[in-house]
Amino acid sequence: MAGFWTCQRSSATLGWVGCCGIIAGQGMIGIASGWDCSIRSEIEVRRTGREKMKRRRSSSCKKSRCEEPAEIMGLCHEHYAEHVEAQMCCDEAIRVLHHGILDGQTIQKTELAEEFRKLQEWWRRACDSINFQRKDPILRDEAKYASEWCISLAQVIIKEERLFRNGNVRPPPWNFIRDSVWDRFKNLEEGLMSNGVARPKDR
Ligand SMILES: [Zn+2]
Repeated sequence: MAGFWTCQRSSATLGWVGCCGIIAGQGMIGIASGWDCSIRSEIEVRRTGREKMKRRRSSSCKKSRCEEPAEIMGLCHEHYAEHVEAQMCCDEAIRVLHHGILDGQTIQKTELAEEFRKLQEWWRRACDSINFQRKDPILRDEAKYASEWCISLAQVIIKEERLFRNGNVRPPPWNFIRDSVWDRFKNLEEGLMSNGVARPKDR
């Protein structure tokens, strides 16, 4: 199972951004190939731009707007360190979700413990659906995404629990990830898609 759960995200934020831009770009070339010269030349400019970008990317860091030389996995030293850190946080969140133990203890802060218990229920539900390739009646075709939301929110809970253990008794700050994850699960429970849109019949 550990092998299966390798986190594919490059940052700690929720990662369900698609690649529509690339698909749209390719489609445009296909449609426009029989059109007049002005459109073709415009497309040539775009194509050249993309090739330049590719050449640039082969020698410099693949993070957007970073011009540092690529060292490991196409990333500069700093961005590779960031990637490793994010991966470690992700792996830790998965371990805590599985075992319910952080640094040898269960979650101590009462509100967090309750939130974490609910999150673990969703996590198990998502894991069962993915591992047994069984469509969950609530998660439907969003089980894989649900597992990623759980990992993201678990990282928030871990941070807050560590602050609490270090004597920070203030209420947790507003957190976009927390609200977004619980909104999505609420929408799913109401039979909608996680983004609140009515679920199409075939999904
Ligand atoms: Zn970089």
